[in-house]
Amino acid sequence: MPDEPTSQPAHILVVDDLPSNQLILERQLRRLGHQVRLAANGREAIEQLRAAPADLIMLDIMMPVMDGFETLRILKGDPALRHLPVVVVSALSDVENVARCIKLGAEDFLFKPADRVLLEARVEACLERKRLHDREQAAMAAAEAASRAKDVFVSMVSHELRNPLSGIAGYTDMLLLDTLGPLNQAQREGLGAVQNLAGLMTTLLADLTDLSQIETGNLHLQPAAVSLNTAVRAAEEAVRRQMIAKQHQLSIGLPTDLPDVLADQMRLIQILTNLLSNASKYTPPRGRVCLSAAPIAEAAVEVTVSDSGIGIPAAIHDQIFTPFFRTIDARNSGEPGTGLGLSITRRLVELQGGQINFTSHPGAGSSFTFTIPIAPSATPSSE
Ligand code: ADP
Repeated sequence: MPDEPTSQPAHILVVDDLPSNQLILERQLRRLGHQVRLAANGREAIEQLRAAPADLIMLDIMMPVMDGFETLRILKGDPALRHLPVVVVSALSDVENVARCIKLGAEDFLFKPADRVLLEARVEACLERKRLHDREQAAMAAAEAASRAKDVFVSMVSHELRNPLSGIAGYTDMLLLDTLGPLNQAQREGLGAVQNLAGLMTTLLADLTDLSQIETGNLHLQPAAVSLNTAVRAAEEAVRRQMIAKQHQLSIGLPTDLPDVLADQMRLIQILTNLLSNASKYTPPRGRVCLSAAPIAEAAVEVTVSDSGIGIPAAIHDQIFTPFFRTIDARNSGEPGTGLGLSITRRLVELQGGQINFTSHPGAGSSFTFTIPIAPSATPSSE
């Protein structure tokens, strides 16, 4: 009586040089409802699989042209084929060779002539693992495609919003300068709020653009020999107003013989500005912010930005570099923020061959340290 066909027919490649062996296996597998292809040796099998993969390979060991060991070596070394399950089919006297095949990556084995019940159980178990693997791969591919689509969408939206936003900011500035007539106090305050919000949105759009460029691999850095001193002065300038407004005491300690670093100058300034700006945002008025740098070992400079601010509770240290994460204290502080700055900063440091870490204690302050490689003496300067 023919067997019940299995619920999901699969494509199985039988590799054996003896037509009589091929025939027996082919019949057994067809009875289980599977579609069967035949190959007379390993080389033929690999050619067939490269043209059209199968769901399962039933592999003989001793064959002319290419034996089962070599076939397994090639299959398991090929990223496009290594996930295909292989059941080794061999003579009962061949246990040692079967063990060798399993070490080479075969999933299972059967002795000839294959027992019908055992054959069905092993084939089905292998096929089920393959189906699971295929489903996982499909889910991963779908997740990656969705993530790419999200990155493209974010970059498109941030690009499209940039122009109208700069129009809003421009008109607000004009109005605040009384260009379109004098303003009363209430109007001035209202427009001041619009100006702040437009500034926040501009930062958010710039951050989103950076993040999507980093995620899609489209951020192009231009590394050159950069003077850390110059980059620090530019960052200091960028946060000067913020520091003055909160009466922060900023001290910068850079050794005079600091070597140039290998970095994209604009991105290095962005890293420094972000760390200094955070130090100031999350430090109460009249607090202290310090920036220092020193060469470590032969190959890198270590830069530290520390503050006497609100600090970060230890329980959430591992979330600080997660995009959009802000501590409750940061949200309650009234300081503007997107929660994107540190995640971008970390990626920018890493893309330039460095690392960033921090220590922080609530109420006592935080200290962020990053490394950046020293420029080889032959690297042309960006100045
Ligand atoms: P934000 O735009 O909120 O400043 P960041 O990504 O730069 O975003 O920082 C993420 C969060 O890490 C901040 O919201 C704040 O909670 C915390 N943080 C960063 N720097 C400091 C610091 N110097 N002191 C205390 N908390 C900080």
